[in-house]
Amino acid sequence: MPDTHGQTIHVLDPATVNQIAAGEVVERPASVVKELVENAIDAGARTIRIDLTSVQGGISGIRVTDDGCGMSAADAELAFAPHATSKIAALDDLFRIRTLGFRGEALASIAAVAKVTLITKPRESAAVAGTRLVVTGGVLKERQETGAPEGTSVVVEELFFNTPARKKFQKNLNTELARIHGILEGLCLAHPQVSFRFYHNNREQLVTDRTAQPLDTIARIFGNECARELIPVSADLPFMRISGFVSRPSLSRRDHDRILVSINDRYVSTPSVTAAVKDGYGTLLSRDRFPVAFLFLAIDTRLVDVNVHPAKKEVRLSKEKEIGEAVRDAVHAALSKFDLIPEVVVPHPQNRELAGAENTVALTPPGVAEPALPYGSGAAGLPATAVPASGAPVPALFIEPTHTGTVSTDHRLRQTELASGVPPVTAVMPALEVIGQVGGIYILAAAADGELIIIDQHAAHERIFYEQVSRSMAGRHVQELLVPVIIHRPPKEAAILRDLIPVLAQEGVMIEEFGTGSFLVRAVPAVMGKIEGPEMIDDLVGDLLGGDPARPVSDRERITRIIACRGAIKAGTVCTHEQCQRIVDQLRSTQNPFTCPHGRPTMVRFSRAKLDEMFRRT
Ligand code: ADP
Ligand code: MG
Repeated sequence: MPDTHGQTIHVLDPATVNQIAAGEVVERPASVVKELVENAIDAGARTIRIDLTSVQGGISGIRVTDDGCGMSAADAELAFAPHATSKIAALDDLFRIRTLGFRGEALASIAAVAKVTLITKPRESAAVAGTRLVVTGGVLKERQETGAPEGTSVVVEELFFNTPARKKFQKNLNTELARIHGILEGLCLAHPQVSFRFYHNNREQLVTDRTAQPLDTIARIFGNECARELIPVSADLPFMRISGFVSRPSLSRRDHDRILVSINDRYVSTPSVTAAVKDGYGTLLSRDRFPVAFLFLAIDTRLVDVNVHPAKKEVRLSKEKEIGEAVRDAVHAALSKFDLIPEVVVPHPQNRELAGAENTVALTPPGVAEPALPYGSGAAGLPATAVPASGAPVPALFIEPTHTGTVSTDHRLRQTELASGVPPVTAVMPALEVIGQVGGIYILAAAADGELIIIDQHAAHERIFYEQVSRSMAGRHVQELLVPVIIHRPPKEAAILRDLIPVLAQEGVMIEEFGTGSFLVRAVPAVMGKIEGPEMIDDLVGDLLGGDPARPVSDRERITRIIACRGAIKAGTVCTHEQCQRIVDQLRSTQNPFTCPHGRPTMVRFSRAKLDEMFRRT
């Protein structure tokens, strides 16, 4: 932390201003919180309190109070001028930035679109009184001396009062709260030396204590269970020091949202580093699973350009490749020091039964994509191998369905059978005769005209399920869980989930919150069939929180897809010949048999002509 105490604020010269990435920094309430808290951190605060107030579902006030260096009366006024900063003086400084701010624009931009009240008093100054300023819409309205503790407090009210277009962000309170949580989580993790206290309408949301141990902060935010699964990582290189934690492979997720990386105390999104973390796991994680990681990189400031994004959410790295390789190697080295063997699960005769019952052995799918196969069985499209007592691997091709597996599959098939009825005469898909199943994944079938069809059983059943679920939208049956399932979610996810509760209820998923971050799932749609365990519910909720921002669909549609995906027979489930035929017949009675709800093909076909051509019979 640089010494900003003696420094005063000055307006940057035009040459420097021109070099600074331009753009809007205050686009929503969450960005105000980010800028104010970053200022408090830069001011060397030990404790930062964030108070949010909301009325009628909109954020009405944001107050950030710190015990940092404070400002003199003259500085306080200048702080509101555009390009006024104490953090850099000249162009060269842009290449050795150690502070979170440097653009000198945040206070000016916030005050341009809101009413800002600033109360500040410099630390260890002779002054008895502090300064109170009110700036509204960029105009200084009040200035007075006032009694104040050392430090700074900024209150933002009437946000976007003069920019109605942006006011719309006020509408969805929980979404905005989730963003704020996300921002604060990143700041808390990158600055464990600061105690953060976040309140919403005086209700405690997130509180961290000052600590020298980042793991304490991680445990505080993400829970002890998460912290227990973490392995320390550290490496020292000439241009970079890596520290932090990565999860054992047993703790993995379907997205990389919890690979959190800070570079020089700035929490940023750097896809190359995220990818490097995943690479460090090699084959310890299947392709579609991601670890949890908290990494702190201290990189030579000359290699880090923070001046690429106005809100500084991204940085540009010189030596990106070397940095990535170093991160990958450090993660790999950390993992290889630990005995991880018990985590690697190879399908075994004894747990064929589990596979049949769709227990995916701690590996679950990304987003609402297809559920994963048991470890080592097919991420690369290879057939699963089972190791019989004799020790010689046997291709999964020859695995017989187990009794429990068959019963469970039957149950799922019955769920969809009742509703699908007889394939219509106008079916777009030809009638098929099943030949067999390969690797518990694909069904081989033949059409009357000599076509060979390969069907992805999960995608097919997902389509069947999806159409049924969307059709029975009205009057959906719910099944009460015998034992309600309790799920815990960190604050950010809890806020998103809270937002979805009413939509979920409409879809038959009954969730209620009890206590911050803890939810009780009481009922799920009957079509989901037998619920095999709390993990299934947890995964369902995980899917809901994930989403694909690239292809947004309505919450309702998303929930339908997730239910279909979760209820459908999974890849890796060994089916009997008769069950395969039932899947194919049901698929034929759907309206869109050729793709799954995510748009992937349910089947590929080899026409007779194509086969002849491949065998050079033509
Ligand atoms: P920047 O952070 O990029 O310098 P800002 O507009 O956010 O620009 O702040 C302008 C200046 O006001 C800062 O450089 C700093 O000197 C001063 N300042 C802002 N917030 C605080 C605070 N909480 N405590 C002390 N000084 C502050
Ligand atoms: Mg700032």
